[in-house]
Amino acid sequence: MLEIHEIPVTPFMQNCTLLVCSETNDAAVCDCGDATPVLQKIEQLGVKVTKVIATHGHLDHIGGTADLMQALQIPFWFPRGDDFLREGLGEQARMYGFPPVRVPSVDVDIVAGMDLRIGNCKLEVLPCPGHTPGHVVFYDAVDHQMVAGDVLFQGSVGRTDFPFSNPEDLVKSIQTQIYTLEPTTVVHCGHGPTTTIGEEARSNPFVRAK
Ligand SMILES: [Zn+2]
Repeated sequence: MLEIHEIPVTPFMQNCTLLVCSETNDAAVCDCGDATPVLQKIEQLGVKVTKVIATHGHLDHIGGTADLMQALQIPFWFPRGDDFLREGLGEQARMYGFPPVRVPSVDVDIVAGMDLRIGNCKLEVLPCPGHTPGHVVFYDAVDHQMVAGDVLFQGSVGRTDFPFSNPEDLVKSIQTQIYTLEPTTVVHCGHGPTTTIGEEARSNPFVRAK
């Protein structure tokens, strides 16, 4: 089973996740906005982290990635459609009043349709553009759980007021890639509490199931 631990990071309270295969103790970190609290959690659980991955290129999701890579000597897996955001990380930090950050280099491209392995567990990569052009979500089809980044929140959806966002793409992503999955699926959101696909498909005020 894949255990998902949420670690809120940065002043944006972004939910970094530590994904652990309970059989092998292998783990991956997703959306490392700040390395310090994540390294503490890794130490506390005693898991073996083999990679850091990201849903998209926003500062609160990747700002601590270079530090984590250096501390653990692990590779970074990233969806290249958001390379312009990753490369502009310094500018994002200045804009939001964050201390200077280092741009993490990418070791492996995350592409839609690929399977991402963590120990004996597997995550499917689903393309969900809209909030950002390269945004992906990670779906565990065995235990019915998902890491959704800034696509879908409890009772809300990701911002689409950035110049590179596309509100129509976001609606389409949620309706075609997420609401079509098992309704009991637990959704770990980039911000705020967890929810389920069924709950949002029924009651989300911004995007309902078609
Ligand atoms: Zn974002």
